[in-house]
Order: sequence, then structure tokens, then C-alpha cells
Amino acid sequence: MGIFADEARSRLANLLRMAGNSERDRALIIAYVESTPEPPPLGPRGIHTSGCPQCWNTMWGQRDRDGRPIAVCARCGFVKEADSGLS
Ligand SMILES: [Zn+2]
Repeated sequence: MGIFADEARSRLANLLRMAGNSERDRALIIAYVESTPEPPPLGPRGIHTSGCPQCWNTMWGQRDRDGRPIAVCARCGFVKEADSGLS
């Protein structure tokens, strides 16, 4: 299977592939995918997440136009400076 085919898979399919045959793990993963927003396109730094202080949803690690690490809430759009660990 080529890279293109892998990228065409849904996030759920990718996560389920890691779950193996455990029904419990698969159920947990499905619940997780349904309760979290889709991540942004994967950059060279990988994906970083943190919690939104406004709505407690998932914030994705991004870069502002000056290259500084920021975190953007996927639900309410709140933006904050990212933790120092985000590099
Ligand atoms: Zn939020």
C-alpha cells in the first residue's frame, strides 16, 4: 500500500488500525474520534495539543505568521501562546 492510499484513510481508520483486535480499545477510539475535532494538516513538527481555557476543548499547536508557537482552539477559536515545551 502506497503513501497516497495511507493518506486517503480517515483518521478513524488510522487509529483503529493501531487498536488491533481489542473490542474495548476500538470502542474507546471511536468515542475519542467522535468527541474531538479533526487535527490540522500534519506539519514537520508533528501534532501538539493542549486544553482550551475557555471551553475545555482541544487546542491544536500551530505557528503564527512570525513562527511563534501558538495554540488554537478547534471549537471556539480561542488563541493563546503555546507552552514552552512546544518547539
Ligand atoms: Zn475553546
